[in-house]
Amino acid sequence: MPIIRAFALLACLGASALFATPASAQPQADRAQRPVQAPKLEPISDVTVDRDQDTVPDRKDQVVRIQGVVSTPSTAFGEGMFQAFVQDESGGLMLYSRNPRTPLAQGERVEVIGRVRQFRGAIQLQNLSIRSLGRVTPPASVAAEVADADSWKHMGTRVTIEGIAGAPTLDTFGRFRLTGDDGASISVFVPPQVTRTIDWKLVPRGARVQATGVASIYKHTWPYDGGFQLVLTDANDLHLLEPPVPAWHAWAIWAAAASCLLLGIALLVFYLLQRRQKARARELATLSALSNAFSTPDIGQEQLARHACEILTAYGVADAALVHMYDEHGRLRQLAAAAADPMVSVSLQASEPLPAMEVTDNGAQRVIEARMSQKGLTLLSVHSLLAKSGTQGFLAALSPHKRRQSDMQERTLVSAVKLLALALENSRVQERARIEQQELQQLVVTDELTKLYNRRFLEEYLRVQIPLALRRGSGLGFISIDIDHFKTINDTYGHDAGDRVLAGVAARLREAMRSSDLPVRMGGEEFLMLVGEHDAPGTMVIAERLRESVESHVFTDAVEGKDIRVTVSIGIALFGMHGNTAAALLRASDEAMYASKRAGRNRSTLAAYVEAVA
Ligand code: GH3
Ligand code: MG
Ligand code: MG
Repeated sequence: MPIIRAFALLACLGASALFATPASAQPQADRAQRPVQAPKLEPISDVTVDRDQDTVPDRKDQVVRIQGVVSTPSTAFGEGMFQAFVQDESGGLMLYSRNPRTPLAQGERVEVIGRVRQFRGAIQLQNLSIRSLGRVTPPASVAAEVADADSWKHMGTRVTIEGIAGAPTLDTFGRFRLTGDDGASISVFVPPQVTRTIDWKLVPRGARVQATGVASIYKHTWPYDGGFQLVLTDANDLHLLEPPVPAWHAWAIWAAAASCLLLGIALLVFYLLQRRQKARARELATLSALSNAFSTPDIGQEQLARHACEILTAYGVADAALVHMYDEHGRLRQLAAAAADPMVSVSLQASEPLPAMEVTDNGAQRVIEARMSQKGLTLLSVHSLLAKSGTQGFLAALSPHKRRQSDMQERTLVSAVKLLALALENSRVQERARIEQQELQQLVVTDELTKLYNRRFLEEYLRVQIPLALRRGSGLGFISIDIDHFKTINDTYGHDAGDRVLAGVAARLREAMRSSDLPVRMGGEEFLMLVGEHDAPGTMVIAERLRESVESHVFTDAVEGKDIRVTVSIGIALFGMHGNTAAALLRASDEAMYASKRAGRNRSTLAAYVEAVA
C-alpha cells in the first residue's frame, strides 16, 4: 500500500508547538470528552494519509493543535454550522463543527486545538478551541489544472482553474462540475450566501469559465458524491471566458427545423395559391356558363332566371337560388328557383306573388326571408336585379344549412347578378320591341274600323297563295260582299251609325268564317272573304251562310234606338275556274257581285265561266 507523503497541514506546527500549547486551550478541548489522561497534543503535520482508504486512522480522537491562516471564512457555510479552511505553507485543513462559536474571517491567523474526528478522508476537528493570532494577508491563489486541483496537492489552498461548466444544481447551495481540457473534472461548491449573488444565466452550461476557490475534499461524505471540490467563497471568483459553443447537432436540428418551417410555409402558400386559383377558375366557369346560356337568341325572362338559378346551384355558388321579378302590377312574383338538393328543389315551388303594398326593396327582402325560413332555408344574401328604371327583381342565395358564403361565392354572385340583370333587361326590351313590331304590323295590315284585313294585306297574301294554289292545286274561292243601299243607312241614321253597321257586318263575317278563311275589308262597304274551296257549290254554301247571317241580324241605332237591318249582295269566283291571277279573280267576283245587285240584291251569284284556264 503506497503511503504518500505526510499530509502537511500546518508547517509551523512543530515539536516545539506541542510544548507551547496555551494552558487555557486544554480544558476547553477536553470539556465535552470523557476524561482523558494527559492530553497529548501532536503536530498534525506528522499525519500520514492512506490515500487508498482516504482515511487518517491513526489520529482519530487525538487532540491536536494547529496554526494557520483562514482561507475560507466560516460564515460562508451558513447558520448553525462552522466550517473553515486553515492553511499554512504546506497545505490546509478544513475545520468543521456544528456548534460554531467564533466566526473566522478570511486572512485571520488562528491557533486551533481540537479532537480529530475524521470523516473518511476529511480531517475534521471537534470541540474546537480557537485563538486568534492576528490578521495576515490571505494567501494568493495558485493557478492549477483541473486535474491538479482534483488531488491532495492543493488541498486547502486557493487555486484558480479553467474549464467547461456543467449545469448547476440550485437549492440552498450551488454546485456544478468543471471539466478541464484533459477531461478531468472537479466539483465546484458554492455556499448559499454566494449562490444568491451569482446570476446563473451568465454561467450557462457548456461555457468556459474560470473559477477560484479553496480546494477541499468531501470524499464519500453526505450529500456529496465524493472527490475533491473547489469551494467558491466569492461571486467575483467565477468568470465567464467564452459562451458555450453550440454543438453541431444543435445547428443541424435548428437547420432541419428551419427547413421544415420554410417547407411548411412554402406548402401553405402553394396550397393557398392553388385554392385561390381553383376558386377563380370556378368563378370564371360559372360566369362563362351564364354568358353562354344568356346569349341564346329570343330567350325569355323566365328562361333566363331559370338558367341563372340552375347554373349557380350546379357550380356550387349557392345551395339554392331564387329569382323574384316585379310584374306589371308591381307585385313580386317568383320567376324561377333551383336547388342542389332535389328535396329542397321541391320545396321551392312557386308560391303566391307578394302583394304590391309590400314591394319595397327592404320589405321584399324581409318577406322573402320569412317565406324561406318557413321552408327551413336560410337566406344568405339577396341581390337586387337593377335596370335603368330601377329594381326589376331580386336574386336570393339560400342554404338549408346555416353556413356562410365564401368570398368566391359572394364575388361570383355579384357578377352573376349583374349579368342576369343585363340579360333580363335586354330580354324585356326585346320583348317590348317584338310586341310593338307585331302591333305595328297588325296596324299596317288591319282595317281600323272593322279590324278585318285590309286590301294591301290581301294583295300580299295573294302574291304568296296564288303560286301555292297553282303548285299544289289547292282551292281558293273569292267571295265579294257589298252592303245593299248603304248610302241610305248613312243618310237615315248618320255616318256614325253607318260605321257601327260596317263594324257589325264585319263581326258577322268573322262569326261565320272558318279558321282557314281570310276576311278583308276592300274599302267603303265592300268586303271579300277568301276561302279554301275548290268547287262552286261548296263556295256558294259559304256565301249564302254569310249573306243569311247579315240578313238575319238586327243592328240597333244607338241614337234613336231603332232597329236597322241590312242585306248584302255577293259575287263568287273560283281559282282555276274564273282565272289564275289575283286581278282576274277579283274582277270576276266583283262582276258576279254586281250581277247580284242587278238581279235584285240580297243574293249570291257565281261568276260566269269566262275563259278557259290554261
Ligand atoms: P248599292 O246597293 O248599289 O251598293 O248602293 P249603295 O248605296 O250601297 O252604294 P254606293 O256606292 O252608292 O254607296 C256607298 C256608300 O257607302 C257611299 C259612302 O258614303 C258610304 N261609305 C263608304 N265608306 C264608308 C265608311 O267608312 N263609313 C260610312 N258610314 N259610310 C261609308
Ligand atoms: Mg259599293
Ligand atoms: Mg253598296
